[in-house]
This record gives sequence, structure tokens and C-alpha cells, in this order.
Amino acid sequence: MSYEVLARRWRPQTFEEVTGQTHVTTTLGNGLRTGKLSHAILLAGPRGVGKTSIARILARSLNCDEGPTLKPCGRCSSCVEIANSTSLDVQEIDAASHTGVDNVRELRDSIRYVAAPGKHRIFIIDEVHMLSQAAFNALLKTLEEPPPRSLFIFATTDPQKIPVTVLSRMQRFDLKRLGSAELLARLRQITSSEGIELPESVLRGIIREVEGSLRDALTLLDRLVSGFGSSITEEAANTVLELVDRRILLDVLDPVLAQDPAAALSAIRRALEKGIAPTRLAADLLEEVRHHVIASIVDEPGELIQLGQEEVTEIARRARKHDVETFQRLFRVLLNRSQELGLASRPDHALELAVVRLATLPSSEALSSLIARLEALESGGSPAPEGGGSGARGSPRAGGGRPRPATGFRGSAGPESPSPRRSETSKPPGAGAAPSPRRDPAREARLRAEAKSHPLVREVMDVLDAEIHEIRTYAPAPGAPTADGDPS
Ligand SMILES: [Zn+2]
Repeated sequence: MSYEVLARRWRPQTFEEVTGQTHVTTTLGNGLRTGKLSHAILLAGPRGVGKTSIARILARSLNCDEGPTLKPCGRCSSCVEIANSTSLDVQEIDAASHTGVDNVRELRDSIRYVAAPGKHRIFIIDEVHMLSQAAFNALLKTLEEPPPRSLFIFATTDPQKIPVTVLSRMQRFDLKRLGSAELLARLRQITSSEGIELPESVLRGIIREVEGSLRDALTLLDRLVSGFGSSITEEAANTVLELVDRRILLDVLDPVLAQDPAAALSAIRRALEKGIAPTRLAADLLEEVRHHVIASIVDEPGELIQLGQEEVTEIARRARKHDVETFQRLFRVLLNRSQELGLASRPDHALELAVVRLATLPSSEALSSLIARLEALESGGSPAPEGGGSGARGSPRAGGGRPRPATGFRGSAGPESPSPRRSETSKPPGAGAAPSPRRDPAREARLRAEAKSHPLVREVMDVLDAEIHEIRTYAPAPGAPTADGDPS
């Protein structure tokens, strides 16, 4: 006997058994009970969350010998035929393969057949958004004057592609992605009934992969069972599902946070040598950083982070050691860099350098201190001790022609136009006499060179160069002004 896949064996048979869509099944159940079911029902939602299952349950509930009922018997000829897709009264159509005019004609002819006594003619049309315009037109006519005792159940992952005229004739239900708690509960129930032994971390790993789709989760589980039988270790699961072990990610993240680029580089090198794709690594690193952002702003992040309690606690502990801006900056930079990975001729090298960049990002404290020192300079005081210099005149715009990034730096005056607030006594050494009202290009060039060589200015320029690179990636179009406008 061939192996029956889990998704099929565990296909829900009643509304009660459907996971996580009670807002849909309750309303449909009420409609069944009161006999006030719309003749055209649209089930919209992501893949693998139960659209087809709900459609079939509805068909059986209506056409069961004991129907209409909320608990179709599953034994009468009608129930059995619907389950085997052999019922003459219930027709399943995959719209993707029925887009032509002939198919539409066929469908319209088929609609004319009358249902068996006491039964309904039920059409389940999957991926309805794939129908052609001609097919939609034909459908519209049918929906305007539906044959008696007929029910149309449409399923779609993309309701926006259905013409509004057609949409307005349907009662629409939006199925949701399953929450991780719902998925976990269902997977636990299924694995324990099936006698499959595996650590919960594997189930959580699966859930992270499937974006709320129970069917996809069961497919992954099938792959594990076919590879390892009913006893599955975490290592085995990671290999088969190509899940990235979180320890690998933390080995990269920890030196990044410690601003140790050499250690971060060798950690990412080790991960790449395990054969993990750079894009995959980058995506998982992004997710890891995202967890830390959440843990730094939410007290009870358990619901939002799809990991075990122990791991969430560990993330929260690490997150507390840094401020939320640090993680947000890591996320932003990593997101930009990972978008470029696909374009790089050597994505692995691009990822290595991205990680080095992460490990050398100035911390947000360093940035605040830079800003404070710049402001001190601007107001005529001495910059904070780290600057080393004594009030050279410089500003982020000293390099000339650079766009002003939205970093929160106060736009300070250029070297050729000293701030009126600066007192004469704190004039930097070597700046010469009071500025002449006439332009002196040689002097301006000298001042600019002097400003550029100041350690504080160099530091600012380095930061800005990197920031500008990141900001440009976000710019709507080349040369478009930034959100706060051009200061000049
Ligand atoms: Zn039945």
C-alpha cells in the first residue's frame, strides 16, 4: 500500500476540524443551518490554509444524505463520491486550465444539468482569478441568474484579479494565514497521533518556513518521515529541510554586536563553507535581527517570535545589552545589502563584506556622541574629548556637493561661512584673520583641506559615506530630493 501523504490523511472532514478559520466556518455553518447560504461564495486566502477543504466540506454538508448538516456522515454515496471527486453533482474545476472560450461553453452547458433529487449542483472553481475575461463574462451571466439549487464556491489566492462586477455577486470570506500557535498545536496533535517523535524545535523550524500554510508544513513533515521514519533528530531535520541552525546565526551576530569584524568574518565564512546559500543566510540573519528588534521593544515577545521560550528569553537578554536603534540599523543595512546579493557575481563575497560592514557600523551611542561634538563645535565650544582636535572648523558638508542625509545631523555652516554664534576667541588656530567679505578661493581651499584632515571630520565623513549609500538605496529615483528637502 502506498504512503498516503499527511495533508491528505489529515484533511478535515467537518468544519469543526478546520484549523484556525472559525470566523469563516462559523458563518458558513450558520448559513447551512438556517438555509440562508449565498449561491456564490468566494474563499480568498493564502495557499495551504484550507480553502479547498472548506469548499469540499461545504459541498458534503449540503449534499450528504443526512444534509444539510454540519456533520456530513462521510459514509453515504454522496459523501464518498465527493471525497473521491466522482460526484456528478459536485464538479471541481481548476480555473488555471479552463481559461479558453470552449471551456466556458462547456461550463455553461454543464450548469444546465439538473442535480439529483434532494441534491445541489455544486461547482468548486479553484484559482478563479485565472479565468479569462470571456470566462468571467459568462460567469457573470450565470451568477446574475443562478440556476435553482446551485452553489458556486470559488477559491483564490489573488482576489484583486477578479473583476469587481463578478466580485460584487459573491459572498466573500477571507481566510487567514495560520498563527504559529495554531500551527504548532495542530502539528503536535498530528505527530503524536502518527507516532512521529521529533523535538519541538523541529516543529518550530518547520513553522518558520511555511508562512502560515498548514499544507506546506505537512509536506515538510512528509519529507522528514520519508527520510528518517518516525524518529527525527534536530540535526537530521536541519539537513533535509535546509534549515539554518540558529547557533550559526548567533555565531555571526555576537561578534557583529561586539564590533569585532574579524570574528564576524570568520563566522560567516564557516557558515558559507557548510554550503548554506548566501541569500538564505542573509535572510535568516535578517530574521534573527528582527527578533532582537522586537525583543527590545515588546515585553512579552513570545507570540511574535517563532521560537521556544528559552530562546526567546536568550534573545531578550541579548537585546537588553544594546539599544533598539542598534538592531534597527543592523536590519536596515543588512536588508539593503541582501537585496544586492542576487546581483553580485560572487554573492558569498558580498555577504562577507556586508557582515564586515555590520561589525563596523558606528554604534548609535557613537553617533550621538559625534552629533554632540559637532553641536559643541558649531556653538563655539570645544568638541568632546574623543575628537582630539581643538575646534577646527568642519562640517558634514565640507566635502562639497554631497547630499544631506536624513541622519539627524544639524545642518552646520560650511567653512567659508562661520556660524554667527561662534565667538572670536574660540577661533581655531591657523584660521587667519577675520574672514574677508570677498571670496578668497585659495584660502577656502586651504580651509577645506584643513577641515578634511581633522580627525572628527574624517570620522563624520566615513559615517556619512556609508549612510548616504544606504539612503540612496531607498531613494525613489536618482536625483530625487530627500524627504526633508534640499537644504540649499
Ligand atoms: Zn453523507
